[in-house]
Amino acid sequence: MKKILLIGTGGTIASEMGDNGLRPELTSEQLLRYLPDIGQLCQLEGMQLLDLDSTNMTPAHWLAIAGEIRRCYDDYDGFIVAHGTDTMAYTAAALSYLIQDSPKPIVLTGAQKPISYETTDSKQNLRDAAAAACSTLCGVTIVFNGKVILGTRARKTRSKSFAAFESINHPLLAIIQDGRLVRYIQPSSATRPHFYDTLDTKVSLLKLIPGTDPALAAWMLERSDALIVESFGVGGLPAYDSGDFCDVIRAGLEAGKVVVMTTQVANEGSDLSVYQVGSRLKGDLPILEAYDMTTEAVTAKLMWILGQTKNRREVERLFYTPIARDILKF
Ligand code: ASP
Repeated sequence: MKKILLIGTGGTIASEMGDNGLRPELTSEQLLRYLPDIGQLCQLEGMQLLDLDSTNMTPAHWLAIAGEIRRCYDDYDGFIVAHGTDTMAYTAAALSYLIQDSPKPIVLTGAQKPISYETTDSKQNLRDAAAAACSTLCGVTIVFNGKVILGTRARKTRSKSFAAFESINHPLLAIIQDGRLVRYIQPSSATRPHFYDTLDTKVSLLKLIPGTDPALAAWMLERSDALIVESFGVGGLPAYDSGDFCDVIRAGLEAGKVVVMTTQVANEGSDLSVYQVGSRLKGDLPILEAYDMTTEAVTAKLMWILGQTKNRREVERLFYTPIARDILKF
C-alpha cells in the first residue's frame, strides 16, 4: 500500500466559523478523521506546516512547503498539500520550479466549503487528491472538482463554485471519475527530482487600464528586479500625448531590470508581433514575452530564475526553457 504525506497549510478546507468569518483551525490529522475509509486506498499520514488563509501566503511559505517535501521525499510515495484556493495556483507554480522533474506525485488541493459543513467539496477533493497521489502521475498538480491540472497551468477562475480551477492554454492531465484516474497526458520526469531553495521575491506586476500613468511603471521598476506588464489582447504598450510607456521600460532595462510583457486575457496568450503597439517593442527593446504562460507561472518562474542568476542572457535562456510544460508556443 502506498504511503502518502498530507501537509496541512490552512485554507477553507480546514476552516471553522469564528467571530469575524472563516479562519483555518483544523490540523491535517483532524481533516483525515473526516475520511475514515481513506485507509482502504492508501496509508495517509498528516503533518501540520502552516495555519494560513492563503491570502497571507508569501514566497517564504512556498520555500517552507518545498523544504518539507524535500526533507520527507524518500519516506513517502506521494504528497498532498491541503491549501487555500485563493493563491493555490501561485503555490502550484512555485512548487513546479522549486521541485523539478519529480517522479512522485505532489498534489495540491483544497475546497470552496469547509470540511465540517454538510454541503462541502472538501471530502471529495481530498479523496481525489489521494487517488492522484497514489498514482504514477508525476510532478506538481492541482486536483480539484475532479480535474487534474498541471501546476504551471492552473488558475482560479470562480470565486464561489466548486468548479473553481481551470487549466489555461493546456489540456487537463487527467480527470477523476468515481475515484479512478482517467489519464490524458503523462508528464515526463527524472529518476530524482531537482530541488531549489532560493527565490528573488522582487518581482512585481502592473495590470494596465486605459490611461495608466507610465510613472507607475517607473516607480515599480525602481523597487523591483523584474516587472511583469499585463497588457491588453495579444499585447502592446500605450504611447500617450503625455508620455510613452516605452521610454520608461527602456530606462528600466538599461538599469538592469527584467521586463516581461503578458496579456490580461485569460486564454491563448500574447503575440507582440501582430500590432505596431507591440512589434515596436520587440524590435527595439530586450523585453521578454510570456506567450502562453500564465501570469502565476511567469511570477514564480521569474522569482526562481532571478534567485539563481541576474545575467540577462541566462535569464532569457531560462525564461524560454520549458519547465513542467509551462511554455509551449514561442
Ligand atoms: N480564503 C481562503 C484561502 O485561500 C479561500 C479558500 O481556501 O478557498 O485560504
